[in-house]
Amino acid sequence: MKNRIQALRDTQDFGEEGGVVPVIDVASTSTFLNPADMEKTFTGELQGCYLYSRHSNPSVNAFGKKFAALEGTEAALGVSSGMAAIACSIEQLVPSGGHIVSSRTVYGGTYAFFKNVLPRRGIEVTFVDADDLNAIEAAIRPETKVIFTESLSNPLLRMSNLKAIAQIKNRHNLKMVVDNTFVPLIINPADHGADVVIHSCTKYISGASDMISGVIASSAEFIHSLIDVNSGVVMLTGPVMDAKIAHELYLRLDHLAIRIRAHSEAASFLANRMEEAKIPVIYPGLKSHPQHSLMTELMNQGYGYGGMLTVDCGTSQKAMELANELQQIKFGLYAVSLGFSRTLMSCPSVSTSSEIPTAEQKEMNLSPGLLRLSIGFTGNTEIMWDRFLHCYKKVFP
Ligand code: PLP
Repeated sequence: MKNRIQALRDTQDFGEEGGVVPVIDVASTSTFLNPADMEKTFTGELQGCYLYSRHSNPSVNAFGKKFAALEGTEAALGVSSGMAAIACSIEQLVPSGGHIVSSRTVYGGTYAFFKNVLPRRGIEVTFVDADDLNAIEAAIRPETKVIFTESLSNPLLRMSNLKAIAQIKNRHNLKMVVDNTFVPLIINPADHGADVVIHSCTKYISGASDMISGVIASSAEFIHSLIDVNSGVVMLTGPVMDAKIAHELYLRLDHLAIRIRAHSEAASFLANRMEEAKIPVIYPGLKSHPQHSLMTELMNQGYGYGGMLTVDCGTSQKAMELANELQQIKFGLYAVSLGFSRTLMSCPSVSTSSEIPTAEQKEMNLSPGLLRLSIGFTGNTEIMWDRFLHCYKKVFP
């Protein structure tokens, strides 16, 4: 196992004046001491100069350097949201027309962007079951440029066979973009062949549900292409990360491993209790999960199987009824999003996956009554389990 936590730590330098953290550089523009260098920066002859903070910024770069160490990529670029990370990566890789093969079980916002926005730019998307490697390969056309998948999918918690998908993309000379939002540190998609790894930092990377942010991790060449003054999609459409957010995230990366382990521990405890109680739970750490061994093979050891689990309540009414009881008893909060210190619950069929038409939800086996839980780590797990069981028995007597 590559020790990404050590690598991340070792990227850190002293702050200015010997401070233990870097200063936040909020300047929107930077001075060129030699005026000729400004011209060379614009022509691309010179790289690495701070020009203007939509192009590059020391605090955003410090975060990017640390994040790249975590994902095991050459470079990374902080952006304004997870959706910005997805949209900019795709637009940079598929600039004018073309075709994408995407997993069908992706976040609803990603699905809507692929289905409704990309066609306006002449980009077609074929959605396939990411578990079906033959279907992925069969969907590839001469104009296909990208295969897109989520490592652990939202909300079905299906694990993509990243190694096998990478073999397909290599055979057809495509790029593979992986959304790793659900399992930071646990899975490093670039180790298994992904060319571009994106995260919604709004979730586990932030951990406090207090900001919207995203990141793109990839080769130095791809990251530079995103901020090219003539053709970089981040530079020219502008969804950059703010320096203050970058600084916050830079600091929070230091306790990401502790938080992920705590999420995994709590989720694993609850999932096991639920399974023992014959509650229809899906959690990749359970041996009953269809891709438990695949995830075990692909994951970094020591961080557990993550904090996400689902409980199928049959109908959205029942899911909301259960969530309401759980909220009343202070088990968790009925809110979209994930990766918070407290448990967040939502019913994807009528919220974060509602962009996916009902027929397609059916086809991908998304139950209308699926309750998605992002298990937090605050409180006592035994007490949390008692509360969950109490509410479950009330809703399903
Ligand atoms: N990817 C996944 C898996 C998500 O769950 C989300 C948001 O829920 C996003 C991307 C989009 O991230 P953001 O809300 O930061 O734009």
